[in-house]
Amino acid sequence: MPTCINKKLEIAIDIGHSPAHPGAISARGITEYNYNQTIAYLLQQRLLHLGFSNAFIISERNAEMPLHARASLANAKRAALLISIHHDSVQPHYLSTWEYEGQTYRFSDRYQGYSLFISEKNPEYNRSLEFAHLLGEELRSLDFIPTLHHAEPIAGENRPLIDENKGIHRFDDLIMLKDTKMPALLIECGVIVNRQEEELLASKLYQQNLVTALEHAIVRFAEVKPAVTP
Ligand SMILES: [Zn+2]
Repeated sequence: MPTCINKKLEIAIDIGHSPAHPGAISARGITEYNYNQTIAYLLQQRLLHLGFSNAFIISERNAEMPLHARASLANAKRAALLISIHHDSVQPHYLSTWEYEGQTYRFSDRYQGYSLFISEKNPEYNRSLEFAHLLGEELRSLDFIPTLHHAEPIAGENRPLIDENKGIHRFDDLIMLKDTKMPALLIECGVIVNRQEEELLASKLYQQNLVTALEHAIVRFAEVKPAVTP
């Protein structure tokens, strides 16, 4: 029996941060917001192309939208899944400086890799976890490796690790995860303060692979499970 995919699902894509508050700054001075936008739009295009006509970007027209308003909008639109796109940094004490094209930037080559976060305060925690497992599997099958530095027992980290192999953590108080009513996940696509990993994250091929993993996980999440007959 062919698998049935529910392509009507409203997939909410959140671009982490905003032009005025752009998040982390990469080892070459590029904002996290810039990287987040690239992946978010690639993902939306891919989903629309696949027939997920209700895939939408939450803060497209109002990039300065506060987090609470973003969560409310996703709730009002009855999104079936929310994915918040981010790129990662490290704690400030790990950063050093280097010169790149005549400018001084901060970097740390200590950690690299992706990480996934879900919140136990999300009312759909179990389905958030289900999606995190699907995405972790797809990322691992495309050779992406998780960083585990957010689980370090130091101030600012200490995120409980749910699945080490798939890089799934709990981060209960993230607004986009706890104030949303649908399954929700935040992905740190990679560490942009790492000089080598930034080069990968900036490459079109690597970006396409990341989006492929997201796409495959979303398609599997949208599979309509056949009703169990007694
Ligand atoms: Zn971020």
